[in-house]
Amino acid sequence: MRVLLVEDDTMIGEVVRDTLKDESYAVDWIQNGLAVASTLKAQPYDLILLDLGLPGKDGQEVLSSLRARHDDTPVLIITARDALSERLRGLDGGADDYILKPFKMEELLARMRAVLRRKGGQASPVLSNGVLSLDPATREAVVCDGAAVVLSGREFALLQALLIRPGAILSRATLEDHIYGWGDEIESNMVDFLIHALRRKLGNDVIQNVRGVGWRVSKGS
Ligand code: CA
Repeated sequence: MRVLLVEDDTMIGEVVRDTLKDESYAVDWIQNGLAVASTLKAQPYDLILLDLGLPGKDGQEVLSSLRARHDDTPVLIITARDALSERLRGLDGGADDYILKPFKMEELLARMRAVLRRKGGQASPVLSNGVLSLDPATREAVVCDGAAVVLSGREFALLQALLIRPGAILSRATLEDHIYGWGDEIESNMVDFLIHALRRKLGNDVIQNVRGVGWRVSKGS
């Protein structure tokens, strides 16, 4: 999952970025509202964490221009503005959820999981293609009612990217985008390494290679 963090407060930004990295999200952080549009043009994101009081361009304006461009990237607003009218304006303006500062990271993470789940059209918190299931809250994978296997952060990030859209083929570059943010050093064989590790833990058949194109998990039943 690749997340764009838009937050001008350095202390909050650092805490959020570091916590999300620890949780194996790929995170890019910008501090100016004006930088959002060009950043989104260069790289698709699974989720935007958007502060409202931003230099350059206010968060509410960032959100409305995003939706005016028909960009439906999920947006979770993080802000100290607690006036009801502000909250309603954010939600009516196309935000997917809202969290007030100060917040606990556990709550932010849970709200992010809920937003991402709704984006994937899933009511259940557990991702599944009928064969393989994955619980984002615990990073546990289960194949065909077998025993739960705990995945490493990066194994989880890769498998989650595939399992959000069962049947879709993801290229090496797309998978890397879900694992690494800006400034992260990309290890050239990381995708192969993770696929190998996942097959060893979950069985050879769970992830299929489509030669020259990428990898997928089956669409299931
Ligand atoms: Ca701010």
